[in-house]
Amino acid sequence: MEIEWLAEDLQTLAHTSKLTISGKSAVTPQVAQTSLQAPPQTLTKVPPQASKVAQVASPQRADTLTEQDTFGFEIPKNALVVVGESLTRQTVGGLGKSAETTDALISRLKSKVVPDRINLVYPRVPFGSDASDHTSLPIPPLSRHQIAALVDVQLEVDGPFVIPPLQSGLDNLKQFEIALDRTIVSVQTFRSSKEIVGYFPRMEAIDIIPDMVEKYVKAGVHFFAVDLAGASNAPSQMRMIVFHIRQRLKIGKRSGEKSEKYYLHVFNVATARKSIQPVAPISDIITHPYGVDSTSGVMWGGGQLETPKLRYYSTSDYGHYRPAALGKLAKSCSCPTCSGSSFKEIYSAPAHAVFRRLRRHRLFAYAEECGRISERINAGEPVKSYWPYLTTKPAAASDIAKIMRDVKEIRANLR
Ligand SMILES: [Zn+2]
Repeated sequence: MEIEWLAEDLQTLAHTSKLTISGKSAVTPQVAQTSLQAPPQTLTKVPPQASKVAQVASPQRADTLTEQDTFGFEIPKNALVVVGESLTRQTVGGLGKSAETTDALISRLKSKVVPDRINLVYPRVPFGSDASDHTSLPIPPLSRHQIAALVDVQLEVDGPFVIPPLQSGLDNLKQFEIALDRTIVSVQTFRSSKEIVGYFPRMEAIDIIPDMVEKYVKAGVHFFAVDLAGASNAPSQMRMIVFHIRQRLKIGKRSGEKSEKYYLHVFNVATARKSIQPVAPISDIITHPYGVDSTSGVMWGGGQLETPKLRYYSTSDYGHYRPAALGKLAKSCSCPTCSGSSFKEIYSAPAHAVFRRLRRHRLFAYAEECGRISERINAGEPVKSYWPYLTTKPAAASDIAKIMRDVKEIRANLR
């Protein structure tokens, strides 16, 4: 794997770079998509898919979602595709014990792989069982058998990366060391060409982050990933992770040698900040000032889908609009959801259909906005650069200000 930095913004940590893995390349900031194949028995009004069209959902919902989600446009050749599943208590319990459970997980993940893209295979281990059975029982810490099985599952699905199996809510370094050591041994023994991901689940103990970064860097990691577990931002965790990566890799004010480059992906960042306001700040795109290269977003935090609460994603002002507030927003998107339809028409459907339309729009709008961010960073001149562009987004102004204070703090401590 190689990471080539093309340009960076002087006021933020954001950069555009080219990620190359086994001959495939992705220019960033780039949208990452999560691929989901709906169960074949699902009834759907969606016409048969073209071969290059994928279904998308967040990993958290990937095994509970029953409707088919149509992306509706081709995934770019240089996209990073997250092949994810948030594991249930039953699946975690069967790993390393039942060949059936392990094989079923492998085949589910394999079915989500999008050919000719960079597939990031992500069997996610949550803190507790998901809400599909209306319980929230904690999942016991992973055993050595379960860790080994999860590494093997990823090698079997055969993406370019392997993520050390770490459970959401990680609170001790020993558990981390067991998972990383097992991953290193498996990769060295069987597939030396795989890249190990410097993965941080949602953490209970952020004081172990410096040691984790140290061990990841010693293992040769340059591709890092953070799971925000559905939060819009996790400032203390992000500050610490970004600071220690940059410090350990000696990435200061300006990027240096090729070997010092890194790539940062964020899993499960909420699309917008939770709010009862008619317009909430969108938050996935404003992770980019931290130096985040790609994200996978969570569109809906759970509960019953109700049309009046479903929000429209606007990159013109970084606002996330409930339908009642859309009157003053000028629609300027050309995605398959928006082209030729008024807001009223987009919202005239059962809640699940509206949800699918809005998700398709969100993915399209996000990808387009990533392109604009890249342009700004590449322009590299004071007036057209990324930082002044961020100040043109009034609906997220206070969130942007907070992130910029974090970024300032990180940069100040690096000097
Ligand atoms: Zn649109």
